[in-house]
Amino acid sequence: GRKFFVGGNWKCNGTVEEVKKIVATLNDGKVVEQDIVEVVVSPPFVFLPLVQSLLRSDFLVAAQNCWVKKGGAFTGEISAEMLVNLGIPWVILGHSERRSLLSESNEFVGDKVSYALSKGLKVIACVGETLEQRESGLTMDIVAAQTKAIADRISDWTNVVIAYEPVWAIGTGKVATPGQAQEVHFELRKWLKEQVNPDVAESVRIIYGGSVNGANCQELAEQPDVDGFLVGGASLKPEFLDIINSAT
Ligand code: 13P
Repeated sequence: GRKFFVGGNWKCNGTVEEVKKIVATLNDGKVVEQDIVEVVVSPPFVFLPLVQSLLRSDFLVAAQNCWVKKGGAFTGEISAEMLVNLGIPWVILGHSERRSLLSESNEFVGDKVSYALSKGLKVIACVGETLEQRESGLTMDIVAAQTKAIADRISDWTNVVIAYEPVWAIGTGKVATPGQAQEVHFELRKWLKEQVNPDVAESVRIIYGGSVNGANCQELAEQPDVDGFLVGGASLKPEFLDIINSAT
């Protein structure tokens, strides 16, 4: 089976004091065993070493982004090599906020995923459609194109988790219904089976993101193709522990 995966994307939030408080809450929390759920929290770059030093050992950290190739004269960027050097195991790539606000294309995200994997990082690769695209019936076309740009560039999916995050559900309080999430996860897995291979389709975790909270996580977690969550707002609150414990 696919081990349940819960990621906490803190986005561009927090002060040193707030970060310490969040970590203390997580460290005090009682959660289901490590062989049931994999937990990764993703603070902003500047807080990564602090979180890494304070965080309980059964949770890991992720960066929220990294540069597309080897570091060098790229002012303001953080390279995959640097993350590896600091012992940061995971990176989130292709988040919709970066795709839309920073114009990251499918190809650019695919290149990032490929490079990060080649350096030994594990990748949470985000895909998802806008409301306009959903209403035009384009959901699967968009998600497939985003996934294809990754599939064209990598051969080993062992260290990849796919996060399906419909843009209309992110930060809006409008969570996808369990049926809506299951439908896309199922179709995406079918796409992987046909376009990549059946083993990858069976083993890759597809997690859901978009307004997940302590109250709506259980029903989503019960869907057969929902293998976990990528949580934004609620990952800054104690209810993140409840979301972890929705693991099935
Ligand atoms: P919210 O949980 O705040 O909707 O954010 C989801 C998200 O973008 C996680 O990456």
